[in-house]
Amino acid sequence: MDQKTLAQWSTEDSAELYGINRWGNDYFGLLKDGKVSAKVENTQVALLDIVQGMIERDMQMPVLLRIENILDAQIFRLNKAFQNAIETLEYRGQYRGVYPIKVNQQAQVVEEIADFGARFQHGFEVGSKPEMIAALATLAEPGSLIICNGYKDEEFIDLGLRATKLGFACFFVIETPSELPIIIERSKALGISPAIGVRVKMTTKVSGHWNTTSGDRSVFGLTTTQLIDVVDQLKSEEMLDCLQLLHCHLGSQIPDIQDIRSGIAEACRFYADLQAEGAKLAYIDLGGGLAVDYSGAQRNEDQSRNYSLIEYCEDIVDTLKQTFDKLGIDHPTIVTESGRATVAYTSILLFNILDTNTFEPTALPDACDDEDDIIKNMREIRADLTPRRLQENYNDAHYYRNEARAQFRRGLMDLRTRSVAENLFLDIMHAILAMTKEMERIPQDLEGLKVSLADIYYGNFSLFQSLPDIWAIKQQFPIMPIHRLNEEPSREAVIADITCDCDGKIDSFIGAYETQPTLPLHQLHDGEEYYLGVFLVGAYQETLGDLHNLFGDTNIVSVRLNEDGSYDFVKEIHGDTIADVLSYVEFQPKELLTRYRNTAERAVREGRITARERAEMINAFNESMRGYTYYEKEN
Ligand SMILES: *Cc1c(COP(=O)(O)O)cnc(C)c1O
Repeated sequence: MDQKTLAQWSTEDSAELYGINRWGNDYFGLLKDGKVSAKVENTQVALLDIVQGMIERDMQMPVLLRIENILDAQIFRLNKAFQNAIETLEYRGQYRGVYPIKVNQQAQVVEEIADFGARFQHGFEVGSKPEMIAALATLAEPGSLIICNGYKDEEFIDLGLRATKLGFACFFVIETPSELPIIIERSKALGISPAIGVRVKMTTKVSGHWNTTSGDRSVFGLTTTQLIDVVDQLKSEEMLDCLQLLHCHLGSQIPDIQDIRSGIAEACRFYADLQAEGAKLAYIDLGGGLAVDYSGAQRNEDQSRNYSLIEYCEDIVDTLKQTFDKLGIDHPTIVTESGRATVAYTSILLFNILDTNTFEPTALPDACDDEDDIIKNMREIRADLTPRRLQENYNDAHYYRNEARAQFRRGLMDLRTRSVAENLFLDIMHAILAMTKEMERIPQDLEGLKVSLADIYYGNFSLFQSLPDIWAIKQQFPIMPIHRLNEEPSREAVIADITCDCDGKIDSFIGAYETQPTLPLHQLHDGEEYYLGVFLVGAYQETLGDLHNLFGDTNIVSVRLNEDGSYDFVKEIHGDTIADVLSYVEFQPKELLTRYRNTAERAVREGRITARERAEMINAFNESMRGYTYYEKEN
């Protein structure tokens, strides 16, 4: 891209560079003054204004920002898209969505979903007793679905049976044959008839790196033999009418709509044959899998998808309708368990940049006659760089740089001379990099130059705590500055977190056409904060985080955007204090204080500090224990 002056660079250029209109799903945009805005319907608010509001309230970075309206809008879009598809295609059944709690289990998120979803009777999918209890206590709307997956013991089943009595449509999805006898036994004991579903093992294989869930070796679901067993057991108990739901889940983040279509077609076959066996099926649950287009590429690849929400819904409804019409089967209620697509957009991780490290040469001393031979040779390379011999120049520069290091180790070169050599080397590398930009074919060795010369921007966050999937499964999220977007970014950088762990870095970014090893960023200004946002982090990130280096939960702020462009702080949750994280690993904060007091008392006794100084130290210690685990700037 040509270097543009400040006046020529526009926010449209930034929008193109960072792809915000491709991955933003209409929830994010750029304002004329170069700030990123969150927008829902006619409302838009600059994220930087929200950050300013947080700082005034003494909420320090990093902050996980949740925008309520976006969650509300996503639930609306999902339900509306199914309703529209059902109407257009004249499907004679309903759509009923459920949210799988495991995708984001935070109380605030679960409560908002129950709240915003009430008008659609949006229910929950639960996979454990704690999730079941959260669902029961949060859902206000009787008639909402509760789908129980996972291994269920007696207690889990009792909770579900009683939920049925309370008016919820609670389904036990049988994943292993051993669950059925417990369900039968408990329903007899409590005198409550159970609603039963069966999870079938699909043979449709799904692409995408999240998906080991499907196929023969899937650990979930019943084999055909087990399925027949379940039917026979229910028959012999005269309970086959309890079997009302067929469940399948192909995996998460399915990038290819064709896989989804094949999966549904297979599910229909199971549905039809179970119906023929005498089951009174009325629900078909297609699980999760609706992908989020993190990269915005709209392609069949891991971080993307080759379909829209509307196509997803239409393809499901269409496939079901055609198949069941052919077989003369009543149209069942369609259930999906979209987790990722429901919550991903609502959360943004915001952090400030603490410092940068650049790999630029500093001012070099002028050449002089009695210079070290190595330095002389390096100066010659620098003076004679030629595009035709760039690889050779590159190799030579490395040779002399390594030679300088070797001589330094042997005591034959002093520190100052070595520093000149290192600087000359960087100077040569930058000059080579500049030349490669004009070249059509870049020698392989030189391809990595952009990365090895990239700046390091140190971000005030922990990758392991806030973005675990970047580290664990090489997931990519859209990352960009949230201001200064009317200026051309002049630096190329990788991002390091503050955990001091070499894995605590981000060096793979979503680019306009392909993954990029560096991210264009702006030069820091003295005395001015520079804020970055990591977008689409609402799904699967918040509860997987660990306490790497004892960095704890971040502050969380929830806002609601108002029609008039203002916003309200709906909720704030202060992140872990240092005392909190220490107690998670079984340190007792009180005991720590006692020990510190004793150590300070000994110092008083031995005359190293005064009693007054001891008091100050203990106060500071207490203050720290109550403080945030991240880098705090003094106001
Ligand atoms: C994880 C999970 C989901 C959620 O899948 P998404 O792809 O996030 O929508 C749905 N159903 C089951 C059974 C799951 O295990």
